[in-house]
Amino acid sequence: MRVIPGEFTPPARLLLGPGPSQVHPRVLRAMAAPLLGHLDPAFVAMMEDVKRLLRFVFATENPLTLPISGTGSAGMEAAIVNLVEPGDEVVMGVNGVFGTRLAEVVERAGATAVRVEAPWGRVVRAEQIEAALRGCRRPKLLALVHAETSTGVWQPLEDAVRLAHDHGALFLTDCVTSLGGVPVEIDAWGIDAAYSGTQKCLSCPPGLAPVTFGPRALDALHGRKTRVQSWYLDLTLLERYWGEERVYHHTAPISMNYALREALRLVAEEGLPARFARHRLNHAALAAGLAALGLELAAEEGHRLPMLNAVTVPEGVDEARVRGQLLAGRGIEIGGGLGPMKGRVWRIGLMGESSQRVHVLAVLAALEEALRAERRLPAPGAAVAAAQAVYEA
Ligand SMILES: *Cc1c(COP(=O)(O)O)cnc(C)c1O
Repeated sequence: MRVIPGEFTPPARLLLGPGPSQVHPRVLRAMAAPLLGHLDPAFVAMMEDVKRLLRFVFATENPLTLPISGTGSAGMEAAIVNLVEPGDEVVMGVNGVFGTRLAEVVERAGATAVRVEAPWGRVVRAEQIEAALRGCRRPKLLALVHAETSTGVWQPLEDAVRLAHDHGALFLTDCVTSLGGVPVEIDAWGIDAAYSGTQKCLSCPPGLAPVTFGPRALDALHGRKTRVQSWYLDLTLLERYWGEERVYHHTAPISMNYALREALRLVAEEGLPARFARHRLNHAALAAGLAALGLELAAEEGHRLPMLNAVTVPEGVDEARVRGQLLAGRGIEIGGGLGPMKGRVWRIGLMGESSQRVHVLAVLAALEEALRAERRLPAPGAAVAAAQAVYEA
């Protein structure tokens, strides 16, 4: 090579978008540790810690709880291809990007996707779900996105789990953004299967997708008439590597597993109730500050996620220019809208390590500046003051 590029030095950034989120230095340090072989007894012992810590954050006793190699979407794909066979009917909520993607994955698996649609920014109602289940011959699975990252909607699950079981269907949830930020009670709520990702509220780099499969899901998996069409994501093979036998399947991403173990240790040290309360408080402060700037949240009241705030862009304000100014001028990343919300919302993520008082105050001050440049004239300092009032209440 004639010109070798210099060492890559990422610019300083505060990640307040829809993920990845800020990563604790302890997690970065864990990733820099020397590699072990993926069948080394020391690595195998470490895998046991990861499984145990994952059961803790998922609030489950499910033995089949492990990180799939790949990002959150690999978790989605794994859940579907293992649970669904060609010809099955699968009901799913579609009110944002990730419900839409679920339907697509289901159809690619040769199953019929029964879409229960709601406007983006609103939850899918239990009555709609019930009607869809009743309209099926023999629904195999009901799938709902717990935290719809594209809209900031927090979907209630407990009634839907009951409805699924009443109709003889399994219940699957996408908790990529919710896990580690709001309660996800796999066993208490009776959820049969769930998948998540590492780079949202677990504050780990992207690269693994924690999944958990309960007893009913395992029965469906082991009772399949057809082989799982993805060899790489086949849990009947993966459970032999992550289980007692330790049969080689594929090389586990060693450093990513170190990182996940450390990120989960941080979650356990903080404790889940304290972590959820921190996410709620920082959301309340951000929401107060946004209101002081005259900005509104796009998700329906009463169903707003604490870790993902979709903010409606006011008339006459250039969505991308404001986002660009935050990034170039302040080193703060926030997200734009997707699909029908493109150009219409900003998405401010307060996930895991990103959910901190100093970050809330920083993004509000930066937004105020950017809005001033757009000839909106919010009262100087009003947003930060409103957020501080929440912290001091
Ligand atoms: C981010 C996300 C995904 C996809 O995860 P990737 O890591 O981007 O593959 C799936 N579902 C939801 C709700 C998400 O927020």
